[in-house]
Amino acid sequence: MKVTFLGTGTSTGVPQIGCSCPTCTSPDPCDKRLRASAIVEVDGTRLLIDCGPDFRAQMLAIGAPQIDACLLTHIHYDHVGGLDDLRPFCAHKAMPIFCQPKVAKAIRERMPYCFAPNPYPGIPKIDLIEIEPYHTFQFKGIEIQPLLVMHALMPIVGFKIGNFAYITDCKTMPKETLKQLKGLDTLVINALRHEVHPSHLCLSEALEIIAKAKPRRAYLTHMAHNMGPQASVSLPEGVQFAHDFLSITI
Ligand SMILES: [Zn+2]
Ligand SMILES: [Zn+2]
Ligand SMILES: [Zn+2]
Repeated sequence: MKVTFLGTGTSTGVPQIGCSCPTCTSPDPCDKRLRASAIVEVDGTRLLIDCGPDFRAQMLAIGAPQIDACLLTHIHYDHVGGLDDLRPFCAHKAMPIFCQPKVAKAIRERMPYCFAPNPYPGIPKIDLIEIEPYHTFQFKGIEIQPLLVMHALMPIVGFKIGNFAYITDCKTMPKETLKQLKGLDTLVINALRHEVHPSHLCLSEALEIIAKAKPRRAYLTHMAHNMGPQASVSLPEGVQFAHDFLSITI
């Protein structure tokens, strides 16, 4: 299994428009963070996790490999704002998009032109497939388990595929999810900044979950500029900041 991070930043991206803080002006390319998204590749099948507003630029940057399906964590714009740019990947057949029923409903409302009886030629063909937390489903033989996490009061999902899991925009998680995260090879989890935030894990909270789950290694994602330049933050052994276009093999 190969995982490529397409973006590792929070909703504003880093640098944040108009900001001249040390992170936003850092010369380190790892401190430039597009909106959070990743591709998981298993035996030649590529699953896109989230499709944010930077999707087009992210795909061009990695040579636009074929995407076979899309998994959505939740409906926030930084996770779905690029869905219209799936067009080149669904010219011949509809793109399966796996998401919670409330996310599917919101997509139908936001992109009604995709679901019209006589759609305009060229629009993205989207096949919304509803999923529920903990109900494992399969795509091309790949087992995917949606895991419930709480984004403040909003129940959203992360995904576990084999001994890898990807969690973003989590603030708290039920015991069952923590149980499913135990003993993974690789855990990706969000860490916004140092200070506590009402709807996202801060660094110390993310590290606490990692310490309980005990994956072999963990990568942090969905960082804001006020995490500081990545080189300025020391992390425990086995934990590192992900960066855009980092590829890891599991
Ligand atoms: Zn987000
Ligand atoms: Zn800044
Ligand atoms: Zn969110």
